[in-house]
This record gives sequence, C-alpha cells and structure tokens, in this order.
Amino acid sequence: MSSEKKSVLILGGGLAGLTAAKRLVDKGFQVKVLEKREIFGGKVSAWKDEEGDWIESGTHCFFGAYSVLYDLMKEIKTAHAVDWKEHQLTYMLEGGKSFTFKTWDLPSPLHLLPAIVQNGYFTFGEMAAFAKSLIPLALKKEKYAPTQDHLSFAAWAAEKKFGNRLLQKMFRPMALALKFIPPEEISAKIILDVTETFYRIPDASRMGFLKGSPQEYLTQPLIDYSTSKGAIFKNKTVVEELLFDGKEINGVQLRNGEILTADYYLAALPIHNLQKVLPDTLKQQLPFFGDLDRLEGVPVISAQIWYDREITSADNVLFSPDGVIPVYANLARTTPDYATLRGEPFIGKTRFEFCVAPAKELLALSKEEIIHLVDQSVRNCYPDTSRGARILKSTVVKIPRSVYAPLPRMEQYRPSQKTPLRNLFLAGGFSQQLYYDSMGGAVMSANLAVDEIVLNVGKMEA
Ligand SMILES: Cc1cc2nc3c(=O)[nH]c(=O)nc-3n(C[C@H](O)[C@H](O)[C@H](O)COP(=O)(O)OP(=O)(O)OC[C@H]3O[C@@H](n4cnc5c(N)ncnc54)[C@H](O)[C@@H]3O)c2cc1C
Repeated sequence: MSSEKKSVLILGGGLAGLTAAKRLVDKGFQVKVLEKREIFGGKVSAWKDEEGDWIESGTHCFFGAYSVLYDLMKEIKTAHAVDWKEHQLTYMLEGGKSFTFKTWDLPSPLHLLPAIVQNGYFTFGEMAAFAKSLIPLALKKEKYAPTQDHLSFAAWAAEKKFGNRLLQKMFRPMALALKFIPPEEISAKIILDVTETFYRIPDASRMGFLKGSPQEYLTQPLIDYSTSKGAIFKNKTVVEELLFDGKEINGVQLRNGEILTADYYLAALPIHNLQKVLPDTLKQQLPFFGDLDRLEGVPVISAQIWYDREITSADNVLFSPDGVIPVYANLARTTPDYATLRGEPFIGKTRFEFCVAPAKELLALSKEEIIHLVDQSVRNCYPDTSRGARILKSTVVKIPRSVYAPLPRMEQYRPSQKTPLRNLFLAGGFSQQLYYDSMGGAVMSANLAVDEIVLNVGKMEA
C-alpha cells in the first residue's frame, strides 16, 4: 500500500465489524467503527446488570469447526478462554428421560458409530433409515446440500421417510438451536450442510464455552488491540443512511446530522439494519442491493434462571425437544466466571441460560409469563431434581430480529462481501461464507471483506 493511509468507515461494531477493524489496522488502514449501541459486540454482546451479574444477548457455543475464530482469538491471545467440553450431545425429554449422542476418537465416519448404536433412545431401525437417507450426502459430500435449498428440512425428511420421532426429538431442537426456526421453516440445506461437516470432520461438532463473558474474552480484547494500532471506536453513533451519488458511496449520514466520509465503507450491520441504511435509489438501480430486502431477521429470546439447588450437574450444552427451551446450559458448571448470583459465588446450584425459541408468539408475553413457561419446561424435563426448587433470580432479553432467517430459496440472496460499488463492502453473518449467521460466519465474512478491500486498493494503485 502507498505511504498515504487509506481510511475505512466500518458501520456496526458486532463481531464482524470488530474483526474487520483488527484485520484492517494490521494492514495499515486508518479505521473508524460506528456502533449505535452503548456497548460493542452486537449479538455476542454481554453486560453487567445493576446487581453485578453478567447478562448476555444469548448463550454462545463455540463449535470446533470455527477455525477462523480460533485463529483470531490466538492473535488477540484469548484462545485459552475457550473451555472445550466432552464431545457429546445430550437431549433432555419430558418426564426426565434423556438420550446422548457420543462420538469416538476415530476417523470419520467411524467417530459417529456410538451415536447410531448406543444413543439409548432411537431404535436401530430408526437410525438405519436415517443413515440410508444420508447416502446422497455421503456420496456427493458438500455438493449435495445446495441442491436441497428449495425444501424445508421437514419436507426433505418426509421425502426420505426417516420417521417423525427423529425429526421431532432430534432435529427440531437442532434447527431451533442453530437458527431459532423449526424444521418446517428452515431450509434443508442448512441442516444437511451442518450434518455433512460433522460427518466429514470429527472435531467440527465438538463444543466449548467461554470461561466467562464474551465482553472480557472477545469483544474488548479486539477493541483494545485495534485501538492500540490507531483505530477509533465510536459508540452511541447511529448510521442513518449511506449517501450514494449514482456511482459510488460518498458519505455516511449519521442520525445526529453529521456526515462522515472515507476512502472505503464496510457495512457490518444486521440484515434488517442494512436494508434501512441503503438508499432506495441504490436498491432500484442494482438488484444486488434490492434483493437484500428479501432476507429477514429471526426473533429469539434469551432467559436466565438461578435456582436454589443443582437441577443438573451437566457441564455441557443441553438440548430439549419438549417445551420452549431447545438449547441451554447450566452456566454455574459450564462457565466458571458465571458461577455467581448478585456478584457472590454460586456453587453447587443452577444458573441456567436458555435460548427460548420459536419466539414469534412469545415476544408479546411479559417477562413473568416467559419465565413461567421456561420454568415449566425445566420442571417437565427434570421432575425429580426440580421438585421444590425455588427461583432466586431471572432475566429475559428479547431480540425481535437476530440472525437472518435461512428459509428455503433464500441462499441465492445472501450477498458476497464485494458489491457492485467500488468503495462499498459488506460483512456480517448473513453474507456469503461457510458458517451461516454464527460467530465463525461473522469472522469469516470480515476476513473476506478485508481481502476484497485490499484487492481493490491494489487495483487502484496499479
Ligand atoms: C440468542 C443468540 C444465540 C446465539 N448463539 C450462537 C452460538 O451458540 N454460536 C454461534 O456461533 N453463534 C451464535 N449466535 C449468532 C452470533 O451471535 C451472530 O451470528 C454473530 O454475532 C453476528 O455478528 P455480526 O457482526 O454479523 O452482527 P451483529 O452482532 O448483529 O452486529 C451488528 C452491529 O451493528 C450495530 N448496528 C445496527 N444498526 C446500526 C446503525 N444504524 N448504526 C450503527 N450501528 C448499527 C448493532 O448494534 C450491532 O452491534 C447467536 C445469536 C443469538 C442472537
């Protein structure tokens, strides 16, 4: 790059925006990040409540597959903060029943053998029918899933006839955990892609939790790193509109009336916010931008309940097909820094954090009504250990539009990071990359966007 530093305005200080800031300062750019909220981190943000307890936008599981995220965390020296759990998936059912998919430390596909023969719930016949449905996936590998994007996963399962019990008990919580929408809505492509990756790469499905808050181990270290290299982070700064002169972007209009300019603009906003800041003239002129209006965000709710006793000692992620808690964890076990209540140690008891989904119908409920439903789901799944348990504290975070909804036929509208405009680039979980809307996806989208900016600088200087 020439001696004069190129400037980049990054819109949005979520994981994609913060990753892009780090990558760009490393390459010698002058970077400013504009974030509308008081805190950075977006969907992975966490903050302390007035009683000193951490509240998160949502429980975040770290999949073994996210190598780009761990590369980033190594660079900011926080990779040690991921606490890897035993490689298994446990499903809790109403009435206190459960089943577990374990893996063996063997090459693919042998690592999945115990899940098929020893899960303790599904019959061998059910698992054999399921294995048969996966033959095209095994043969065509990653080329198969994209061909099934026209179907919902439930429609795909009906075609393959592998049985309603597997769909409802295993895949329903999986779909809700991954994208907060049920198998009847989610594109078959997503579940098949994830299954193919777990099948092919034994470590991809391994899960970990951060030792504490993403604020301390991910977002703040990213901000500190980039600040030390000259980046500027502006919170409480709402972008109102990208200014388009018919050819390229020539500024960013802020809600406070200010206009900021730079050599490049990188929008790292959630899809519904990106739709709002793109001018209509741009959407009308270029279908690349107009088509973005077809994507939408999914509602989800995060709830926490502190109980006065240990309801489960599981130090791992838990799934449940029954009730409103498809995925959750006892943070008092999984997340050492979170073994607290009102700032005091909280050991040997339960601090559950739940993803509550599907949330469309539940958003209108009060906090008390949501906690009541969640508590009922807990008591149904743990009738013995929850008997007489008292709730000591609870919290609820409602997110009306979170990750983009991967509905059938939506894949074609996910944009690339490079846009038809020379000086505008996109990043964010919804943009095209391997990991959909996830932490791995946010980081990968930022890496790709920065590669494109660097490429453009090279072209301009050539
Ligand atoms: C409840 C929940 C649980 C999840 N669990 C997992 C998990 O277990 N594992 C996993 O990998 N992923 C999980 N995810 C997904 C993951 O959090 C996201 O995919 C990822 O954080 C997306 O990052 P992003 O930077 O693309 O978007 P965001 O995090 O949404 O960041 C965008 C930023 O832009 C800001 N912004 C919006 N509008 C404006 C504006 N006009 N001006 C300025 N700033 C603006 C926002 O405030 C936000 O900070 C979960 C998400 C949720 C909601």
